[in-house]
Amino acid sequence: MNHHDVKEEICRVGKLIYDKGFVAANDGNISVKVAEDRVITTPTGVSKGMMTPEMMVTVNLDGEVIDGQLRPSSELKMHLRVYKERPDVQAVVHAHPPHATAFAIAGIPLDKAILPEAVVTLGTIPIAEYGTPGTEEIPDSVAKYVKDHNGLLLESHGALTWAKDLMAAYFLMESLEFTATISFYVKQLGAERQLSTSRVAELREIRERMGITGKTPDGLSSPDGRSIVDPKERR
Ligand SMILES: [Zn+2]
Repeated sequence: MNHHDVKEEICRVGKLIYDKGFVAANDGNISVKVAEDRVITTPTGVSKGMMTPEMMVTVNLDGEVIDGQLRPSSELKMHLRVYKERPDVQAVVHAHPPHATAFAIAGIPLDKAILPEAVVTLGTIPIAEYGTPGTEEIPDSVAKYVKDHNGLLLESHGALTWAKDLMAAYFLMESLEFTATISFYVKQLGAERQLSTSRVAELREIRERMGITGKTPDGLSSPDGRSIVDPKERR
């Protein structure tokens, strides 16, 4: 994909995260690694739903601007840390989706095996400890989780996902917010049933066959079996 196509795709994904309500006003940022030491990213102070390719900023892995009229976000630091820790990653998406952000504020990680598809595609979503915006504190806490996960919640802030291409990183953000939304509703119903450890083991095999890496929830091995979802046990 040439650089202009990458910039257009960033605009497309920016519109998606804005239209879906994953960001408010000028929040959120997106980046794509286009070469060993080159990253194209969204500008600061612009709504992600109203960007044009010309607004994109090209930086090196130290965050120095190589090309572009506008400035990158101070949150770019956490994207760059992801690329440094995970050379296989080509795209990072940061947003403030409402349900995921609520979990980030409540300090509750998305680490329960409640949805089979989320176990396969998303895995465990931990919480990276709070840091002051714009400082190295946030990249430092993100770095602890990057190798073993494909996304995380930023404590009292929002969510971050990364993948081998931009659409994959965006879809992880969608799955993360969907999982947070369903977790929220299930908590309201007061019955958070989890998949059993044996069911999770089956899902891990599927995940491995799909070449997805990173930690998954453990599943529940409850002695009374009451909160376990395992059809085999009901036969
Ligand atoms: Zn943010």
